[in-house]
Amino acid sequence: MINKIRELEKLARLLEPNEYQRGKWNAEVLDYANAFLNNLNASKAYIKATENSKEIYNFGIEEQGIELAPLLESTTKNIDGVGINPASSGHMGYIPGGGLYPSALGDFIAAVSNRYAGVFYAAPGAVRVENMLIRWMCRLMGYQDTAFGNLTSGGSVANLIALVTAREVHGIKARDFERCVIYLTQQSHHSIIKAIQISGLSEAQLRYITLDENLKLSSTHLEEAIIEDIKNGLIPFYINASFGTTNTGAIDPLKSIATIAEKYKLWFHVDAAYGGFFKLVGKLDSKFEGIKEADSITLDPHKTLFLPYGTGTVLIKNKAHLLKTYHCLADYMQDIVGREDEISPADVSVEQTKHFRGMRMWLPLKLFGVKPFRAALEEKLYLTKYFYNEIQKITGIEVGPEPELSVAIFRYVPKNEDANAFNKKLIEAIQNDGRIFLSSTNIHTVFWIRIAVVQFKTHLKEIALLLTIIKELLKPGVLR
Ligand SMILES: *Cc1c(COP(=O)(O)O)cnc(C)c1O
Repeated sequence: MINKIRELEKLARLLEPNEYQRGKWNAEVLDYANAFLNNLNASKAYIKATENSKEIYNFGIEEQGIELAPLLESTTKNIDGVGINPASSGHMGYIPGGGLYPSALGDFIAAVSNRYAGVFYAAPGAVRVENMLIRWMCRLMGYQDTAFGNLTSGGSVANLIALVTAREVHGIKARDFERCVIYLTQQSHHSIIKAIQISGLSEAQLRYITLDENLKLSSTHLEEAIIEDIKNGLIPFYINASFGTTNTGAIDPLKSIATIAEKYKLWFHVDAAYGGFFKLVGKLDSKFEGIKEADSITLDPHKTLFLPYGTGTVLIKNKAHLLKTYHCLADYMQDIVGREDEISPADVSVEQTKHFRGMRMWLPLKLFGVKPFRAALEEKLYLTKYFYNEIQKITGIEVGPEPELSVAIFRYVPKNEDANAFNKKLIEAIQNDGRIFLSSTNIHTVFWIRIAVVQFKTHLKEIALLLTIIKELLKPGVLR
């Protein structure tokens, strides 16, 4: 048996590269990262996937390991060379992602040491870092120390955690599902619908509240709907408001929604996945009025805090609610009891074992300080306003509501052609060009082109380039 063990050990030890091997790989990966970042200026924001990118299938999983070089080559070509490039300064479609460099270093450290960030007693330092970040975000939103939260994988999971917490706190049982009412709008993010389905509430009544002309929830209509539902013996229970809708960046009237939620004892959730971190720009404080009254808030550091994908946040005003919903103990975890002076992430989320996400957030915030984040966010607000002003100077361009944050919509209305069809052609041409990536949306059956200035590398130069591209495409004889 000893011989067998030794033989297996020899093979198993391939999983433990020595310093020389690590150094070699480190250098190769660093070269790859440097080449990627140095080439960003010359690379497109969007490259249509071609047949070529399927070559990645040549690297299926096999018994025998191979060298790193061909894998990195294939990564460059078949992974990073196709589709939308979220690291590009020209990415202004959907809600662009970030990718701060120190976050990559934080991920590296977190993966090398692999601290068990789910449980305080296993990794007190890691949990302290994450909880410190959560408390920082709670304070940013105006919450007291009685609030708490969790670093999630993204906004969708944050919205799910909030809804399930509300369901438990309001004691909504299966027999109530058909009678309980959830209030939202046509502009609510579709992850809310997913959360409703996952949490078992798909039988609940969904009330889509009327939007005003700026696509914000009408609080008058909200209150009328609640009164009507109570009269009909239903159980009004959850309001989903948006601080910055994904479509147009519209901000629902939080203050009056908070008053209504308080009056009728509904759970008030603010989905601020996109807009929340604009709180760092002090001048928007009045728009945030009422957010601290919310029972729960979703934030997405992988959007407006410029982190790489995989970092969202849910904040809950009353931490007891969060613990009530998620805390449960397994027998094999009895060692933990009484050893905690911080709440463990595993006690307030669906996850048990998890990546130490805090490291990728803490490192850039500490290395840069908050100041450049504030500046970058305020810059994005101005860039969007600037674009909104400039695009209107082009004859035939129509714009949506004045942008409150960093999303704006516009379209070209041709004289002798269907506007929707033309704007489809226009967005396709912008995407084929690829230097700037924009996406589109439909509002009340009107096709709009949408710009979202969220990538931290987007500056005046890229906005100017976008305006030039659009002007070129609108010249007679190009698309029309
Ligand atoms: C992006 C977004 C979400 C979903 O968050 P993910 O991080 O993509 O899971 C939810 N709500 C709003 C308003 C968003 O912009």
